[in-house]
Amino acid sequence: MFWVDEVVDKILETYPDQDEFVVRDEKTLSGPVHVGSLRGVVIHGIIAQVLNERGKKGRFVFEFNDFDPMDGMPSELEGKGFDEHMGKPLYTVPSPDGKAENFAEYYGQTFLGVIKEIGFDPEIPHAKDAYKSGKMNKWIEIGLTKNNKIREIYKKISGSEKPEHWSPVSMVCEKCGKIGSTDVIAFDGEKVKYVCTKDKVTWAIGCGHEGEVSPFDGNAKLTWKVEWPAKWDVYNVSVEGSGKDHNAAGGSHDVGEAICKEVSKTHIPFNVPYEFFLIGGKKMSASKGLGQSARDIANLIPPEILRYLMLSKKPNQAIEFDPEGDTIPRLFDLHDEAAKWYFEKGERDTMQTDLARSFELSQTSSEKPKERFLPRFSQLVFIIQIPRLDVYEEVAKMKGSELTEEDKEEVDLRVKYATKWLETFAPERYRYHLQETLPESANNLTDIQQRFFGILAEKLEKLEMWEGEAIHGTVHEIVKSDDEFGPKVCFPALYTLFLGKEYGPQVGWFLSALEKEFVINRLKEGISVETSHGASQKETLQEDGKIEAGITYEQAKKLLDEHIKDPIIKMHCRESEVVLRALAKHFGEDEELWGIAGLLHDIDFDKTKDDVKDHGVMCRQILKNAGVTDELIEVIASHTYGMEEIPEYKDKNRSTRFQHALAAGETITGLIYAYGLMRPDKSLANAEVKSIKKKFKDKSFAAKVNREVVKECELIGLEVGEFLELSLNAMKGIANEIGL
Ligand SMILES: [Zn+2]
Repeated sequence: MFWVDEVVDKILETYPDQDEFVVRDEKTLSGPVHVGSLRGVVIHGIIAQVLNERGKKGRFVFEFNDFDPMDGMPSELEGKGFDEHMGKPLYTVPSPDGKAENFAEYYGQTFLGVIKEIGFDPEIPHAKDAYKSGKMNKWIEIGLTKNNKIREIYKKISGSEKPEHWSPVSMVCEKCGKIGSTDVIAFDGEKVKYVCTKDKVTWAIGCGHEGEVSPFDGNAKLTWKVEWPAKWDVYNVSVEGSGKDHNAAGGSHDVGEAICKEVSKTHIPFNVPYEFFLIGGKKMSASKGLGQSARDIANLIPPEILRYLMLSKKPNQAIEFDPEGDTIPRLFDLHDEAAKWYFEKGERDTMQTDLARSFELSQTSSEKPKERFLPRFSQLVFIIQIPRLDVYEEVAKMKGSELTEEDKEEVDLRVKYATKWLETFAPERYRYHLQETLPESANNLTDIQQRFFGILAEKLEKLEMWEGEAIHGTVHEIVKSDDEFGPKVCFPALYTLFLGKEYGPQVGWFLSALEKEFVINRLKEGISVETSHGASQKETLQEDGKIEAGITYEQAKKLLDEHIKDPIIKMHCRESEVVLRALAKHFGEDEELWGIAGLLHDIDFDKTKDDVKDHGVMCRQILKNAGVTDELIEVIASHTYGMEEIPEYKDKNRSTRFQHALAAGETITGLIYAYGLMRPDKSLANAEVKSIKKKFKDKSFAAKVNREVVKECELIGLEVGEFLELSLNAMKGIANEIGL
């Protein structure tokens, strides 16, 4: 059974006599809402929907939490005059655009836009109204009078010891309006004496005011762990899930439950704990100037697909989403597979039935989905890159019949998203450029590959029907016909001939999209070219020579602080530093010099992240101004040599040990970091080289980590396994710093 139906069964078992169910979720609106928050929205929304299907009244209630204090600055608002508002309730902070009602509403409405696009229409109560209307008064009183009991629960459940005068209630300071900075001193049953302190929290400075005022009707709020069970009670919640961080042993859910049982004697809603939503590619937000908010990601994939992404996995499975890897084309494929089983008229097994159900629930409108042809996303990505191809015509070939109006609508929609993906995150291996003339790389073909072209040209010429399946069959038959051939010899050669790179879309389909004559002629051209006869073209390593840094390690650290603000990039630089130090030690080179190279290699990243074409180029001036020597600058700049996106460097090659070490070293940090994050303990402590090596071979894992660059370690005499071990150990050494 599909997981939602199982969960709803259990809910109905838990509340056999109940007809109306409040299914509640909330979000503190302290900045752009991260896409991960959509997981909670979809889980709650879909449970409410299925409760309705079962003839119950399922009410999806999504609270805008606008009463929490502003306790962090969204990066987009840094330096824009919002500092004075730190510590104030979010609904009293002005809207960043000056148009929305307030700060919380600005971010909340953007998020609600996405929620509605993916087909949910929750009730939207606001936390400030719950307080102001007096609904929370009972709980404010509990907080003020039972504070000692609650303090004991904290200690017993979570081990957290609060000082004797601690109160779970914060007053809104009447003078400065802040809520994060106040301490309760006394409560006489009607009024609270409080002081607005200067140093209660690091993110807000109070005004020093001492006051006395009623804590009710919106003048005070509860701290999260007490507010949560209060809301379960006040909203009469039947079902409320939450992320796994809240559900850890001794975490906020446990504390909330204990308060319900021991203090308020109120009910505990049915819980649905769920796993994290992980965005792959840690450089993602920075590298293409696009963020990770729900709005940003909703712009990348159609609403149905986004909804499918969020509901297709069971709550206890993490969702990994990497727009720079294969996630998006794979997601379309999975969705299309589910659609196929939904429309299947014959028998379905359990898994196929679940897939059909996941498709049904991913619909964003209540109308029954209409059957239409779903062209494969990865093939559309290819088609739209080849100007000579007509999209409708090619899709009609894929379908095997004329396209209906609905088919065309679907094609248009997918083309829109495929174009968007190519403009933003699509990795290099999805980018194709049909070579109108024989590419230069054809010079590296071998005699065997040319023999393969000869046989293929002859057989294809005789082919009567120029269509995918027949071509596919012909190619594969030849590939298998000779021990010297085989897929590893033939396919890269074939793609090289047409695309100038060693991979491409499924070959039969791909060749069928081109004219027969063009294909045959190109094969013949490939045969006639003078080849290198498979001669080894291995480059020899050049000497680094004696290199001075021109800058001390301390100066390098300062330079980094000056130029790199993004903490994730900083962390990446620090990781690269330690890996480079370990490599220097291994080779008996200057550890400080190599460490500085690692630390500074991305020094221009903040300036080039939106337009990567100058990455590694712009750093030259920054480093020069800081006194770095030309020799070290050359090494640092070389880490982006050969990148297609960088016109100045795309034809340059790394040539020395130091250069290869830097490129391989800074690249491997991404894989090890991603590996650490996916481990159940989110730590590198028990990480093993063997399993990282597996991940290295699994091209879909942390797909943006360029394996070819990592393999440059072999050019400097390190096996991949050895290199991984050395890098892993180096990163383990700073595990605390990088949160692994
Ligand atoms: Zn104050």
